[in-house]
Amino acid sequence: MTTSIAFLGLGHMGGPMAANLVAAGYAVTGFDLMPAAVSSAREAGITVAESAAAAVASADIVITMLPAGRHVISAYTGTAEEPGLLAVARPGTLFIDSSTIAVDDARAAHDLAVAAGHHGMDAPVSGGVVGAEAGTLAFMVGGSDADFATALPVLEALGKRIVHCGGSGLGQAAKVCNNMILGISMIAVSEAFVLGEKLGLSHQSLFDVASNASGQCWALTTNCPVPGPVAASPANRDYTPGFTGALMAKDLGLAEEALASTGVTARMGSLASEMYRRFADGEGATTDFSGIINDIRERSADPT
Ligand code: NAD
Repeated sequence: MTTSIAFLGLGHMGGPMAANLVAAGYAVTGFDLMPAAVSSAREAGITVAESAAAAVASADIVITMLPAGRHVISAYTGTAEEPGLLAVARPGTLFIDSSTIAVDDARAAHDLAVAAGHHGMDAPVSGGVVGAEAGTLAFMVGGSDADFATALPVLEALGKRIVHCGGSGLGQAAKVCNNMILGISMIAVSEAFVLGEKLGLSHQSLFDVASNASGQCWALTTNCPVPGPVAASPANRDYTPGFTGALMAKDLGLAEEALASTGVTARMGSLASEMYRRFADGEGATTDFSGIINDIRERSADPT
């Protein structure tokens, strides 16, 4: 029998993900609060329900791709006006949350699902809208072995690399740790290019040295923050995202929450979070996160 999937949140990521599930032969019923997301989903061949409850009622698996933790928890538990998804789903439904949310929220969502007689797992992604459209996302999964086995064929229709990181919350833990590395390394690469400029070093020379030496990293060789050395990097198209500064600020905020709840001191992670928050208040709201190099350059004083 065809697995029936309810997909909640048909935005930039969820819309193409749901379309890929349809293409893979799953019976998908979607729902979104925004009329624009609903009409693009319909154009992509997704059946859209009149309400979240109607989408979920006969599903075997419910996937959520929502903005933040509070949206996931309130969708699960409902409001005074509307029953939550956990109350309307058939007993034993598997709830997979692919939104990027705090580790503690992911564990709370899992516990709520289990308390209501369902299964729950966190499966955040990296790879952005391009990966969502191409079905090449990377999934970081937190949940039981049995639930991971159930989810795997579905996730394989959406992504290329699927890593089971451990129990509930550990998918989000992997995502937050990875993105803390990325935020810090993009700032490090950007600061090095700005320093090189001041010293009279060309972008290409620094790239040729660092990309073949110990400074090598993804922020340099794939998403290089200066135009020129890497043709496909957003810097060559006026920092059109890619991955916005706002999303990086969001993810580093989640890293800060995790640092606070574990008592870990991570000075670089906290500083990167502060820098991206400031960047996201301005240009970084809509431009690629590598555009932080312009912020760093603007804040650099001319020597007297
Ligand atoms: P988006 O804002 O485009 O989509 C979210 C959608 O959820 C919106 O269409 C909104 O109307 C809908 N929504 C909100 N509450 C809802 C509810 N109760 N029921 C149904 N729909 C509801 O955001 P996005 O870019 O698709 O990101 C979704 C998640 O994926 C976020 O957690 C984000 O951090 C994460 N993420 C995004 C990217 C990216 O590059 N955009 C990459 C990796 C992870």
